[in-house]
Amino acid sequence: MVITRFAPSPTGRLHAGNLRLALLNFLYSLQHQGKFILRIDDTDQERSCLQHEHAIYQDLQWLGLRWDLSFRQSSRDALYQKAVQNLKDQGLLYPCYETLQELEEKRQQQLAKGLPPIYDRSALNQDSTAGPLSGRKPYWRFLLTHQEETWDDLVQGPCHYHTQHLSDPVLVRQDGSLSYLLCSVVDDQDPAHPISHVIRGADHITNTAIQRQLFAALKRPCPVFGHVSLVSDASGHKLSKRQGSTCAADLQGEGFLPLAVAKVLAELGTSKTTKNTFCLQDLARDLDFSAFGLAQPRLDSCLFAQASGKLFAKMTAQDVKAFFPSINEAFWPLIQGEIHSLKEIQSWHSVIDPSWQGPKANPEDQDYLRWAGTLLKENFPDLNVCESMELSQWKNWLKELKQQRQGPELFRPLRQSLTAKDHGPPLPELLAFLGKEVVQQRLKAAVQD
Ligand code: GLU
Repeated sequence: MVITRFAPSPTGRLHAGNLRLALLNFLYSLQHQGKFILRIDDTDQERSCLQHEHAIYQDLQWLGLRWDLSFRQSSRDALYQKAVQNLKDQGLLYPCYETLQELEEKRQQQLAKGLPPIYDRSALNQDSTAGPLSGRKPYWRFLLTHQEETWDDLVQGPCHYHTQHLSDPVLVRQDGSLSYLLCSVVDDQDPAHPISHVIRGADHITNTAIQRQLFAALKRPCPVFGHVSLVSDASGHKLSKRQGSTCAADLQGEGFLPLAVAKVLAELGTSKTTKNTFCLQDLARDLDFSAFGLAQPRLDSCLFAQASGKLFAKMTAQDVKAFFPSINEAFWPLIQGEIHSLKEIQSWHSVIDPSWQGPKANPEDQDYLRWAGTLLKENFPDLNVCESMELSQWKNWLKELKQQRQGPELFRPLRQSLTAKDHGPPLPELLAFLGKEVVQQRLKAAVQD
């Protein structure tokens, strides 16, 4: 059975790149009728916080993701300690006593000689009593087998990494805390729910080389790995929680549709697009890791607006209600083609509120608008009387305005004083919707001192 997982650290809001990884794992399990696990990697006690953890649940739920199981690493210490003991018993974890300063000095010496700064394993050769006698507490490194690790990556194809390029990783720190590298392997190989596929960022490729050896050392099968290229922002910078990259909260705040966000994230960096996207199942059906490129895809937030716009264009007022309960059903068809976000719907709904106050007109437009108002009052007395004639009467009024102005300057000041926007529904329909009284009020207010 396919079992995937998303394993965020609750140290900040999820950014778009994190959301993408969660989504890809979820979609892959959906495609294979498998299971999806949410694992909270909270072993870093200092930086992890419950508030971020709750935000992670909310963000993933907002995107439409559901998980079959969730757990925190902090509740599984006993399992990790068992694995630590197992590795010690096999002689695969060895104690080290060097201070950070000593390690740094060694590093500098290696660099000065033009050598890569890889840990020289001197702790292995030390007299076994010297360390304990120093009074220092040990930390424990995993003894890597220097060999080429090769695997068939779901995304990258054949991959290889020689572990001689790596320092033996510290799995148990001096304060007894454990490295993610080990905890993750213990969790991924849990016999109750063994992870079959680990889909994560390409920044984890070296970790994969190490973790493959950990899987082997703990005598459990290794999952299939898939490393997707990391996303960068529109200007090519790496996304980061700390640097305020677009996060789930921003996308929600803008009012983009979650399915549109999912579509953009699922297709980012691939050569494929799902034609009719009505639900996450559609995206799951078309997910194909062989179509993922190896270059870093750039994420421009305008993609979310475009994708949302396309979905809004197909939605009925009833569909929109799920996201915007107070939608004005008669008005929706008029604005539908303009809308890219819930924020824009909100803005239009403020505009059609009769009490909305528009902006003052530019001085050069004032006489024109004053004249338009007078014309409306004097030449169109029955505009409110006969509804079936209304649209054609508004068209006639607009036609008469052409006597005064031509081109964009004919309608722009009108739209501005009626809606404070340069674009919107066709003017006759908009005018009919607002009604003569409101139109007159707004024209008047736009030219009042
Ligand atoms: N907590 C790790 C991270 O956020 C998980 C990496 C993994 O998927 O193994 O980078």
